[in-house]
Amino acid sequence: MHEKAAPMEPIALHRNRETGWIEVICGSMFSGKTEELIRRLRRARFARQRVEIYKPSFDNRFSQVEVTSHDENSLISTPVHTASQILLLTQEAEVVGIDEAQFFDLELVSVCEQLAARGTRVIVAGLDQDYTGQPFEPLPQLMAVAEYVTKLHAVCVVCGSPANHSQRIAAGSNRLLLGAEEAYEPRCRHCFRPAESGEANTDRPHARNADTANE
Ligand code: ZN
Repeated sequence: MHEKAAPMEPIALHRNRETGWIEVICGSMFSGKTEELIRRLRRARFARQRVEIYKPSFDNRFSQVEVTSHDENSLISTPVHTASQILLLTQEAEVVGIDEAQFFDLELVSVCEQLAARGTRVIVAGLDQDYTGQPFEPLPQLMAVAEYVTKLHAVCVVCGSPANHSQRIAAGSNRLLLGAEEAYEPRCRHCFRPAESGEANTDRPHARNADTANE
């Protein structure tokens, strides 16, 4: 029996050094975007490719200098305030990883395209929807110009279906609210309640009763 082909990322066995490209890793919170980004970057690093990693500088939930996923995998990264700083800082990198892309503005799209035009493999991870379920720029624009798009899913905490949405369970209407577990939970299309930010915890559709689950 054949081993199952791997494949969410492009396989460049005979890489033309002149040719760069853009990979987008998107999905809801808790879908494993950062883990997937780290996995790809680690593999490139094992192959002795020069790898550089950037993330927005105000994302300091865990660390100023590490790209850290919720399961505490991490790689050292450079915090930047604007997307254009990535262009200035990237010198010899063959692979550039960018995490939390939703915190950059639309300038990130042209930055990624310029890097790819230089021959760089660009891997961008970020939320593709905000907590109201609306497309979260610049991810939609990045997905359009990328060669490869990987959409990951979390597991709906209500019904166990693949979750495509980030349900906000903390109050507030700031689109850029930081903080993971305490502010959001993954929900599927059926269970997602975009208007219920701040009160969703007490009004879950079809909620499983945790107290009786083992009876
Ligand atoms: Zn559900």
